[in-house]
Amino acid sequence: MKRKSKIVLVIIIVIIVSLFIWNRGTVKFALTHKSWDNISYENFIIYYPPDYQYSEELNTWAKERYLVFCELLDVFRVEWPDEKVITFYVFNDFENGRDYGLKLGFALRRTNTIYTRYNQTRGHELVHIVTNYLNSGHFLHSSLINEGIAVCYDFSDRDFDELSRFYLFNDDYEVDIFGDNFREHQYAYYFGGSFVKYLINTYSMDKFLEFYSQDGLDESESFIEYYGKDQKTLYNEWVNYLKGG
Ligand SMILES: [Zn+2]
Repeated sequence: MKRKSKIVLVIIIVIIVSLFIWNRGTVKFALTHKSWDNISYENFIIYYPPDYQYSEELNTWAKERYLVFCELLDVFRVEWPDEKVITFYVFNDFENGRDYGLKLGFALRRTNTIYTRYNQTRGHELVHIVTNYLNSGHFLHSSLINEGIAVCYDFSDRDFDELSRFYLFNDDYEVDIFGDNFREHQYAYYFGGSFVKYLINTYSMDKFLEFYSQDGLDESESFIEYYGKDQKTLYNEWVNYLKGG
């Protein structure tokens, strides 16, 4: 082999090894997840890694989430197609997910797949999946609304109005929860949960579902079209509601 070819070969090997080390969690997941043990429950299939600590509790875990799933179908009036399976990958905790290159938890709506922690709330990721069936996959592309509705129906016992009051009024600031600014704020999910709950309780679930299950308009246009008010007006209404509570 010529000297030049040898150098190219060494460079290629170094690049491949570096990529492997850089992404070793992702590579580990990609190479192993298909052979992980799993259980089935109704239309759920739940995979867990070899170092999973809660396999004994997995049937109960699945049952609790299936009950929530059925409630969510009722809440959002979704007819779930019988043949559609929801695939879960469940990990011990954040750390365990990171070992596999995953930043938990999240849901991939197109493939009905959920990546989650053992003690993540029962509802959050399932809301992302169920709401994808509202109107053939059309949904408003808004972080505030998508995360807000998932928080609102996460089936935890947290009071998001109270949490929002605490973080908004203790620091006495006005936050921008709209558009790309939503993800900038540390407590955005609490604000989103409370704001969406306010919209639903004040203007009805029917109105919310119409507003949410369309992608013809962007976030700010949608507020005007469906609520007849701009986002700033709705924000102020929500803050006033929190102040009154
Ligand atoms: Zn989410």
